[in-house]
Amino acid sequence: MDTPSFNTKVECPLCGSVNEFETIRVGAYVETGRDTDFCPIGVKWRFEEYRGYNPLVFFVATCPKCYYSREFNDAFKGWKSDSTFKTYRLKRIKTLHLEELAQDNAIIKRLGQSIDLDKSPNESAIAKLLLTIRDETLNERPSNLDLGRFYLRIAWVMRQLDANGPPQRSSAVEPFSAIDQKFEVWAEGLASWTTYRDELFGELNRSLADGDRKAGSEQSKIESSYAEIKEQLLAYEEKCRSLGDELTGIIKSHRAIAVGPAVGRPEAPFGGKGSLYEFLTDLKRDWSETPLDEREALNRAVEGYQKALEAGKEVSAGNLQIQVCYLIAELSRRAGEFAKAREFFNSVIKVGQEYVREHQADKSRTALARKILDLAAEQTQAAKEAAAGVTT
Ligand SMILES: [Zn+2]
Repeated sequence: MDTPSFNTKVECPLCGSVNEFETIRVGAYVETGRDTDFCPIGVKWRFEEYRGYNPLVFFVATCPKCYYSREFNDAFKGWKSDSTFKTYRLKRIKTLHLEELAQDNAIIKRLGQSIDLDKSPNESAIAKLLLTIRDETLNERPSNLDLGRFYLRIAWVMRQLDANGPPQRSSAVEPFSAIDQKFEVWAEGLASWTTYRDELFGELNRSLADGDRKAGSEQSKIESSYAEIKEQLLAYEEKCRSLGDELTGIIKSHRAIAVGPAVGRPEAPFGGKGSLYEFLTDLKRDWSETPLDEREALNRAVEGYQKALEAGKEVSAGNLQIQVCYLIAELSRRAGEFAKAREFFNSVIKVGQEYVREHQADKSRTALARKILDLAAEQTQAAKEAAAGVTT
């Protein structure tokens, strides 16, 4: 093997530019094993120039022009003959993606511009995965299974960065993650206030319109008071939003004074920010699905896998179902959600044993299920011990 990879030309389905993407050859690196959530460990490249690269750097193809991002697999390489994609998905994704791209400070633009495969390949891998998640959610019916898979891969890259890379957070940055979290909850509250207000007004408008039929002076008094209240409420909401923006600015300035300028601190600069963590924190303010650390990425992965499992269609019975149940359990255990971990380890064992019994004559068919059953037994024990450690 002379080269670690080969290039494939793919036309961007959104903007039409023809891009070349790298596919890593089998054998270009070896792994010493897999972690209990199947994360490759001990990756060693046979090619010096790729040392330190997480292979997931090449998992996603991102168009350098419009930042459209997809898992770089055969389905994407051959999208031109994928009639389902072309007929049912492409138009919607193209419109929504390009609409967002045209906006100032668009999330996809910030993610796309942060990518620098030479200077920060692994951080860029996270940005590319986030772009893929963003584009997947533009689908009318996004694949929850894929969203789970993408978030899990973000968690894996973050784990490697935490283990090998420069520290992602300085201690001075740490307190801000609590402030950011609270702020996010508050902003979400405001957003749902608006939604519920819309719904309430909708109901009221309909009901008052019906009431018109028996209109009288009482009825018109009610209507004019309602119009006045509505107007005032909307004005207050507007004020609330602009005060919220001011507050964001104040938090930013406070952070700048408390943490100091980004330059000269130990974190690797990323995306024009002091570090990956700061870049993600900034992004999360406008996109709440952004995970700030491995634990948050694991929680999002669990959410995707669980939705896929509950919806049923995406997860066929058998090996995939056993695997998905196991991942929900194991990722929950890693994220400290021990009750959920126990619940799903139990269903892995139940579903897995049934499957193995049903197909006992076919050893190769049940190999994965048996391996997962062993893992589940070990990790159930680990979860029990950890949960005991938490409560005592
Ligand atoms: Zn493009």
